[in-house]
Amino acid sequence: MVKIVENSVITYKNFINGEWAASTTNEVTGSINPANKQEIVGYVQSSSRQDVDAAVAAAKQAQKAWRKLSGAQRGDYLYKVANIMEDRIDDIAETMTKEMGKTFPESKGETARGVAILRYYAGEGMRKVGDVIPSTDSEALMFTTRAPLGVVGVISPWNFPVAIPIWKMAPALIYGNTVVLKPAQETAVTAAKVIECFAEAGIPAGVVNLVTGPGSVIGQRIIEHPDINGITFTGSNTVGKRVGQGALARGAKYQLEMGGKNPVIIANDADLDLAVEGTISGGLRSTGQKCTATSRVFVQKDVYDEFKEKLLSKVSEIKVGCGMQGETWMGPCASENQLNTVLSYIQKGKDEGATLLYGGERPAENGTENGFYVQPTIFENVKNDMIIAREEIFGPVLALIKVDTIEEALDLSNDTEFGLSASIYTKNISSMLSFINEMEAGLVRVNAETAGVELQAPFGGMKQSSSHSREQGQAAIEFFTSIKTVFVKA
Ligand code: NDP
Repeated sequence: MVKIVENSVITYKNFINGEWAASTTNEVTGSINPANKQEIVGYVQSSSRQDVDAAVAAAKQAQKAWRKLSGAQRGDYLYKVANIMEDRIDDIAETMTKEMGKTFPESKGETARGVAILRYYAGEGMRKVGDVIPSTDSEALMFTTRAPLGVVGVISPWNFPVAIPIWKMAPALIYGNTVVLKPAQETAVTAAKVIECFAEAGIPAGVVNLVTGPGSVIGQRIIEHPDINGITFTGSNTVGKRVGQGALARGAKYQLEMGGKNPVIIANDADLDLAVEGTISGGLRSTGQKCTATSRVFVQKDVYDEFKEKLLSKVSEIKVGCGMQGETWMGPCASENQLNTVLSYIQKGKDEGATLLYGGERPAENGTENGFYVQPTIFENVKNDMIIAREEIFGPVLALIKVDTIEEALDLSNDTEFGLSASIYTKNISSMLSFINEMEAGLVRVNAETAGVELQAPFGGMKQSSSHSREQGQAAIEFFTSIKTVFVKA
């Protein structure tokens, strides 16, 4: 049984070795709706290290048979999961909105993306995995093939509770690994609903396992477990470093996707309406809680005032509210913690002398008092060395910085420890080329917002945004497999 229903609120169990399993602790935590803190969306278990150990043992055992299936056979399972998830798209999306606040259309779009990712990697099971390399021995055949890592630990965040676990699990599975998923506790109900799709697709016992619980217990055990051969993580830099150091210490492979401080550059010749639209969408959609969210806005001085007026006018139209209400464009922060972090950064911006142009407060509208809402917020007179221009805020806060030239904008854009995504709005081909060549970011976009990621293309950052591997698209094979060089002499 997947769940126990008590007072109409469901408790979701772990999924271990093909069964929905009660934790050894018997402790549960409630997942709170950030739009209404009195509503509990569901309960999830606060599991123990022993639960992780059981999941890893099941995954290790299951991997022996799973790796022997052909890629096409493994792909058939992923197609089945995709179809089931597509049928449940509304329920999964509603759960996501109620658990972490993004609007229902955004949640539905993300779930549809999860379906598309599953289908994409199902197809990867039929594609080539190696090369023939001429041997110096004329009677030998030399080629490369790929071997799975074994058991992969997936530690995922709350901001994309469907897409991120799937873009880690689907490639792990198609290349012959088995998986133990530890989702963010904040969105573990949504994760359980994703795993229900795998269970109903009849994925063999032990191939996919779910263990919910605090990062400091469940995540830490994944870092330490000797039978976990690879760990893929998305989240904060602080935890990411811990994952990397722990994995390195015991020789496990690791992949870290972490924060960003993503710039957009608005050139004098930009289409300003397009630039405003991209800045708002990139910076404020999902309440700014994307690692690729626009944060620093460098505007060339000749168009600064016009851009600012247009931006303010459009931002003033944004409707903040519960993500399940049709007219809402921006939902609440995902948690009280996240709200407090955002408010503290807004205070730091004021303290450091930036000018608050718009927002900066909790909204006063009726119905928002029980949720973790904050207004869309815009600062100007920001210096690139201020805290609000240096640290990841992960909230709906934009910092406007006036620049003289594109070169200055590029220098300032690169003056950060992060390097995830960046964009420029310009019609000038040499400005575009300078930006493409000089921007130190894993994802650079021209006349498009910083936050667009396509599932068939590599995704990942430079500098402290990443451990420098890439997720998604065909690039995912590099992390989830090892190259095996084969030499055959007749
Ligand atoms: P965390 O990095 O704490 O959480 C990410 C994942 O790591 C969660 O599954 C979490 O579990 C787990 N985790 C937490 N502590 C440990 C640990 N000691 N060992 C192993 N795993 C652990 O991010 P937060 O949710 O706390 O968000 C804080 C900040 O991180 C945000 O404000 C934002 O700046 C950044 N962030 C960036 C994301 C991105 O996409 N790059 C995504 C999310 C956050 P649990 O939830 O149970 O604590």
